[in-house]
Amino acid sequence: MHVTMVKKRLENGNACEKCVQAEELLKARGLWERIHEVLWAVEGEPNSPGMVLAEKNGVLTAPFFVVRDELGTERIYRSVLKFIRECLTAAVEPASVKAGSVASVPEPLSVDELAQIERELEDSSPQQVMDWALQRLGANGAIAFSGAEDVVLIDMAKQSGRPFSVFCLDTGRLHPETYEFIDRVRSHYGTPIELVSPDPVPLQALVKAKGLFSFYEDGHEECCSIRKVEPLRRALGQFHGWITGQRRDQSPTRRDVPRVQWDTNQGEKEGSLLKVNPLVHWSLSDVWAYIREYGVPYNPLHDRGFVSIGCAPCTRAARPGEHERAGRWWWEDATRRECGLHLGRHGH
Ligand code: SF4
Repeated sequence: MHVTMVKKRLENGNACEKCVQAEELLKARGLWERIHEVLWAVEGEPNSPGMVLAEKNGVLTAPFFVVRDELGTERIYRSVLKFIRECLTAAVEPASVKAGSVASVPEPLSVDELAQIERELEDSSPQQVMDWALQRLGANGAIAFSGAEDVVLIDMAKQSGRPFSVFCLDTGRLHPETYEFIDRVRSHYGTPIELVSPDPVPLQALVKAKGLFSFYEDGHEECCSIRKVEPLRRALGQFHGWITGQRRDQSPTRRDVPRVQWDTNQGEKEGSLLKVNPLVHWSLSDVWAYIREYGVPYNPLHDRGFVSIGCAPCTRAARPGEHERAGRWWWEDATRRECGLHLGRHGH
């Protein structure tokens, strides 16, 4: 494979900003060596090598990449992320989510080290935070997949070229569209997704005593604790860290979420389970801009007005002007609309 990168030089002699950013991204990921040739498209000089190549391929923007395979077939990439994903990282096999496959255990971080890392990552992009997380955790790092943000994380993890694991809490109450979506994500990324089910003993006891819709009367905590919180704790017992799609603007309980923290809410893993939140500074619009730009699969329920999607009986489409989580447990007070998955004893 031979790769040519075309960069644009402006009339003032500077490289265009997007070209500089693309080069920095490739260097940050250790992929710059994979670019065999750089050609300049010089503004106002139609005969410059990059301009000629752009004209030949009908490309109007820079940077772009021309990838020629062994048979001489050429492909053009206008997106550096798509180029990385399809040409430079496709050979990496996703890790199994089984405990037996995990690599070495990273040294635990002290509170001071964690604070230092948070400071160092402060100006990092979500992709850079993801890279940091997977560099540290590898297959010991899991993405708990359910919503739109989580597929963005899977997309970023895949682009990083590093091993990672994915699991999904199958509460037994998800929409049929969500089950189909899970399978679509699995095949789109070629990534195993482990489905984690509730413990049948407490579940059967709850349903026998209170029926299938007790949450409308008693609040959602009891049902969520059996169908979500305990299975999550069990699933995370296999890993040394998890990567979440939490954003600060999602809910009053998430406004102080840092990029890296200890998860102090997972029983016996207390103090040893790292939680990384690459999207803390993103808005919902940022998530959807990424999904659209990179063709990330999304749950078809979003096209029917659902914003934050959980279990079918506890999710409804949000009304115009409502907060994005207004469709979750809508019969309860906004500050109680968490299912216990992200409630740490230190306020995260
Ligand atoms: S979201 Fe609703 S159905 Fe799902 S676990 Fe929680 S209370 Fe139960």
